[in-house]
Amino acid sequence: MGPLPSRFVDALRAIVGPDGVVVAADERLVYECDMLVYHKGLPDVVALPRTTAEVAAVVRLALDAGAPIVPRGAGTGLIGGATAPRGGVMIGVNRMDRILEVDLVNRYAVVEPGVINLWLTRAVEDRGYFFAPDPSSQMVSSLGGNAATNAGGPHALKYGNAAHHVLGLEVVTGRGEVLWLGGPVQERPGYDLTGVMVGSEGTLGVITKVVVRLTRRAESVKTALATFDSIEAASAAVSAIIAAGIVPAALECLDEPVLRAVEAGVHAGYPTDAKAVLLIELDGAAAEVEREAQAVDRLCRQAGALTMRVARDDAERALLWKGRKEAAGTFGRLTHNYVLQDAVVPRSRLPEIMATIQAIAKGHGVRIANVFHAGDGNLHPMICYDERVPGEFERAIRASDEILHACIDLGGTVTGEHGVGLDKAEKLALLFNADDLAAQHALRRVFDPAGLMNPQKVFPSGKAGPAHPSGEAPKPVPAGMWI
Ligand SMILES: Cc1cc2nc3c(=O)[nH]c(=O)nc-3n(C[C@H](O)[C@H](O)[C@H](O)COP(=O)(O)OP(=O)(O)OC[C@H]3O[C@@H](n4cnc5c(N)ncnc54)[C@H](O)[C@@H]3O)c2cc1C
Repeated sequence: MGPLPSRFVDALRAIVGPDGVVVAADERLVYECDMLVYHKGLPDVVALPRTTAEVAAVVRLALDAGAPIVPRGAGTGLIGGATAPRGGVMIGVNRMDRILEVDLVNRYAVVEPGVINLWLTRAVEDRGYFFAPDPSSQMVSSLGGNAATNAGGPHALKYGNAAHHVLGLEVVTGRGEVLWLGGPVQERPGYDLTGVMVGSEGTLGVITKVVVRLTRRAESVKTALATFDSIEAASAAVSAIIAAGIVPAALECLDEPVLRAVEAGVHAGYPTDAKAVLLIELDGAAAEVEREAQAVDRLCRQAGALTMRVARDDAERALLWKGRKEAAGTFGRLTHNYVLQDAVVPRSRLPEIMATIQAIAKGHGVRIANVFHAGDGNLHPMICYDERVPGEFERAIRASDEILHACIDLGGTVTGEHGVGLDKAEKLALLFNADDLAAQHALRRVFDPAGLMNPQKVFPSGKAGPAHPSGEAPKPVPAGMWI
């Protein structure tokens, strides 16, 4: 769309106050992309509301003007979600950042969407509780964004993704109406619209409140670091642990290039001479944790572990986690730019896919580093490139695509935890046929009849053509389906 008229901006100022509207081009630049920086789209204006009523008024104003509406949390997404390829109004919820209620008897909290993930755990940890979904971005990503992307994280292996911890939501839909979906009481009749909204990536509405489950801390926690002389051996240990019926709280893998970068940047005490490490956390009743720790030690050694180190105290455990959680901040030591893939394989296929990734790296002449949620089979190969060197970006993208197809061939899927956004929209056709997509699209239209909520995200444009593995001939696409 063209530039928004000045009377639109005036009306916006009247709703959210003059300090809640960003119009200057240089100030809007911060909002042109998320952390996947090669998808850029500058919003025409950014609104920073403080209340649900303000969000609803902004949405209605945009609907009247036919302007696209892009919800944005902290902008840490890795999929081109909180970006405005068609311009329009970005609604940043950062000023809606209050924890409204904590009910430990019934184990839930009600928060505004701009509350940062870690703030919630900090608010309840001295009483023995935490918010379980812990994306590695938890120091900075918002709970609204976590709900909108169905975020995972290291502890999703045992505790599940955001979907398992979001009990209810208040939403301003793409119709401009305010709805409450779900709530603290779990048994609710009717359709699971909370489940529909979680992971909808801002395409159905703006989340304005989130009711989340609070989880009791386990009696005992053990965190261990196992080192290996190959990433395949580390992957084999992951499969062995899970096959033995043990579900660690977290089971993360870092390869040699990442280890070196992390150690240089964070000094987490990781060995830099290993080819791969597993960070393994067990939690539960003390006797159970002790028993599982012995089994994990044995299984890792059988898989070829060179060393096993168990953190002796909370400080050592925190340091091991600091290395993992701050790994992304050290990637600048490895590469000028990178393409980060987010794909999944059944975890029994991990050794195979890791070997394939190395072969793909060789084939395309690119370097690939790996840090990933191994227990979930959720890979994050980081394909290094230098944007100043012609052709490198294209090679990195080709390698990334090949990895994705290899994961799907092994029974995996197109996205692990980062979502679909702009980046993976075309890839959905690899998994869904036209009927599947039409059903999802019809649902989208219920909440967003004007097609203005986060346009171009999640649904394929259709331009890439059908690629469904069934080879099924494409059905005619319903009118207006591709947005
Ligand atoms: C270093 C690093 C590590 C990461 N680790 C993980 C990880 O372990 N697991 C994981 O799952 N992700 C991870 N991520 C990705 C990212 O942090 C998550 O997707 C996170 O949930 C995004 O939250 P956000 O507040 O930054 O949302 P944004 O990036 O602002 O938005 C993400 C999407 O949600 C929508 N959205 C945001 N807020 C709202 C709202 N209030 N209402 C409706 N829609 C909304 C946006 O439109 C967009 O489509 C990581 C990112 C980084 C940079």
